[in-house]
Amino acid sequence: MAQVAEEKTSKPSGQVKRISHWIGGAAAPGKSGRSGPVYNPATGEQTGAVDFASVEEVDRAVQVAKEAFPSWRAVSLSRRTELFFRIRQLVHEHREDIAKLLTAEHGKVLSDAKGEVARGLEVVEFCCGVPELLKGEFSEQASTGIDVYSIRQPLGVVAGITPFNFPAMVPMWMWAPALACGNTFVLKPSEKDPSASVFTAELLKEAGVPDGVFNVVHGDKVAVDAILEHPEIAAVSFVGSTPIARYVYETGTSHGKRVQALGGAKNHMIVLPDADIDMAADAAVSAGYGSAGERCMAVSMLVAVGDAADPLVEAIQQRLPKVKVGDGMDADSEMGPLVTREHRDKVAGYIDRGREEGAKVVTDGRETAPDGDGFFLGVTLLDDVKPEMDVYKDEIFGPVLGVTRVQTYDEAVRLANENPYGNGVALFTRDGGVARQFQFDVNVGMVGINVPIPVPVAYYSFGGWKNSLFGDLHVYGPEGIQFYTRGKVVTSRWPDPATSKVELGFPQTR
Ligand code: NAD
Repeated sequence: MAQVAEEKTSKPSGQVKRISHWIGGAAAPGKSGRSGPVYNPATGEQTGAVDFASVEEVDRAVQVAKEAFPSWRAVSLSRRTELFFRIRQLVHEHREDIAKLLTAEHGKVLSDAKGEVARGLEVVEFCCGVPELLKGEFSEQASTGIDVYSIRQPLGVVAGITPFNFPAMVPMWMWAPALACGNTFVLKPSEKDPSASVFTAELLKEAGVPDGVFNVVHGDKVAVDAILEHPEIAAVSFVGSTPIARYVYETGTSHGKRVQALGGAKNHMIVLPDADIDMAADAAVSAGYGSAGERCMAVSMLVAVGDAADPLVEAIQQRLPKVKVGDGMDADSEMGPLVTREHRDKVAGYIDRGREEGAKVVTDGRETAPDGDGFFLGVTLLDDVKPEMDVYKDEIFGPVLGVTRVQTYDEAVRLANENPYGNGVALFTRDGGVARQFQFDVNVGMVGINVPIPVPVAYYSFGGWKNSLFGDLHVYGPEGIQFYTRGKVVTSRWPDPATSKVELGFPQTR
């Protein structure tokens, strides 16, 4: 299997590898005649061509998953646990192979890619405890001779549609709890970096997951729409940008599906004057530029309160020349390229936009981008950003950090609360009382106190508020188990002639 990963990351010069669907436990070369390019963002070279599924191909994957469902849901909890331990072991053994695939197609540096796999693996580990997670409740003698109990059952065929920025971790947020709960799964990964999903399918097969339980269809809007409209798909999990998340939620629910659709973000990091400025500057640089800012939990706006502003901007400015930008496979690199040339150009365009709008360009990432055809952009710092500017309002999703200066804590909290996104937020302070008030006040789903990227551990659930999440349930953790199951309550009585009689009234419990 390791050899398979090696083949996937390399190919003879001048050739592109073909990335096919995975249906019914085997690679399924696409027949639609449509495909999309996959690049190595560090070189700008096209390295792959990914098949785009037709409506019929999506349907085939769904039919296969539907056929696999009855026997998969009947697999005992102890056997499912055993399989999940095996999956956990295989993903762990191949973490380096998966990380290499991520770096080769996404561009993030290898250490960051390994971190992504590790965080995804935590969700798989959580799912090893599925017997505990699916336990119901039992009430003995709810009425005379009657017991009542609840059980949670899988939904059937469920689907996941995932973004480019976490090509291994976000699918793991979905397929791990979905499969652990007894559902069968159709994954539509990002067409920009699809190889990790196919490799995952191979690992699941090797672990012993029956054919048809986990399927991958690649593609674009055609595949997504086919999923959203398919009558046999019971639920859809989506992670991506806000306009598509809203579309997926509205279309999926109008077709009778349960949907959780996580959208974009504009995460504020508020720094109070009493904060440890060096710690805050380290955090801002790490969370602002890690993975080239292509994280939904990246810090994109610093809100500097009162006297914190000047020392904070100075401390960040000092750190920026030391950030090493380069090929993610190079062990010295700390920040890789952006995912595509178009995205890099769009992000770079925000530097001029910020200047035109009146922001101060403290550091211009175009001046420090490595030479060559890779999709590189260096780190950019914009100061004096105002809430009415596009560079404040838009999710830039690149290595561009903005600083907004305000005078009070109340102004800072108002900014976070009035922002249409509500994914993550962080407060840097030494004052426990203010921090406690902040967690009470702020209208954002994931809050960090002196922690810049507060991604919840696997036994809590992940999800934002406002335009960062459409739907009621967050992903993974306890809410993930709820999302992929539905409750049933059983009221039971065993034959007892002494309590048997004809009674036409509504059942009473006393
Ligand atoms: P995207 O919305 O462009 O794509 C996400 C998925 O939707 C992909 O599988 C893509 O093929 C599909 N898609 C794209 N356009 C579509 C269309 N018109 N109709 C139907 N399907 C379509 O997002 P992306 O650029 O891949 O990822 C970056 C975005 O994801 C950012 O906005 C980021 O904040 C967000 N994100 C959010 C979270 C979160 O947890 N809230 C996590 C990761 C990424």
